[in-house]
Amino acid sequence: MTQRAKLVAANWKMNGSRDQNDRWLEAFRAAPPRCQAVVCPPFVYLEQVVAGLAGTGAGAGGQDVSDRTLGAWTGEVAAEMLLDSGAQWVVVGHSERRASFGHSDAIVAAKVERALAAGLRPILCVGETLHQREQGLTMAVVAAQLDAVLERCSARQLAGGAIAYEPVWAIGTGRTASPREAQEVHAAIRARIGARDGSAAAQTRLLYGGSVKPANAGELFSQPDIDGGLIGGASLVAADFLAICAAASH
Ligand code: PEP
Repeated sequence: MTQRAKLVAANWKMNGSRDQNDRWLEAFRAAPPRCQAVVCPPFVYLEQVVAGLAGTGAGAGGQDVSDRTLGAWTGEVAAEMLLDSGAQWVVVGHSERRASFGHSDAIVAAKVERALAAGLRPILCVGETLHQREQGLTMAVVAAQLDAVLERCSARQLAGGAIAYEPVWAIGTGRTASPREAQEVHAAIRARIGARDGSAAAQTRLLYGGSVKPANAGELFSQPDIDGGLIGGASLVAADFLAICAAASH
């Protein structure tokens, strides 16, 4: 059986200031986690976070990336720029960007392709809305989101990043998928990747995201196909994020 090292990523969303970030980084440096950790601040704070994480073993990532190559695209941030700022990772296809900024499955796939071409490790987010779950469409939605990416990139390439299953109804709502509900979807995602490439599927880190807290992280991370988490709200408090990382290190 392949041993997948646990990965815990912080998605700060549009939060933080230079002062707040300094305090967070100071607390993080005082007790760096044993699991692999990634911190994804707003673009403008990337260099601050990269510098603050130096020596901790943790990496930094962007929260989105342009699907375009360098040039006249006002407001966009290219994959090469993220790398140039010290990021190794990038979150792509977060449900907030899909729902509020028009990121279709095709756009998300193009972003993943650009990120990989530049040498970034994408954290591809997939997940269904509450309405879709209630209609029994969870796997159909997740499969379509995944297949759109796998049409443009190989399963082997994706294995260098991670896939985050984030049910939209669990993001920022305080409502978490039960460990069983999450495991069911994670196993189905792994099987779908496995139909294309078994060894890539065994190596791909599948993260769970959606109201993960120190109190529920341990049980979620002990599921066989849950290889860590993508943490929103709870990642803003360094002590909570570190406690979640500790749950992944057990
Ligand atoms: C997220 O934004 O990816 C997320 C999982 O948020 P939260 O942990 O706040 O639900």
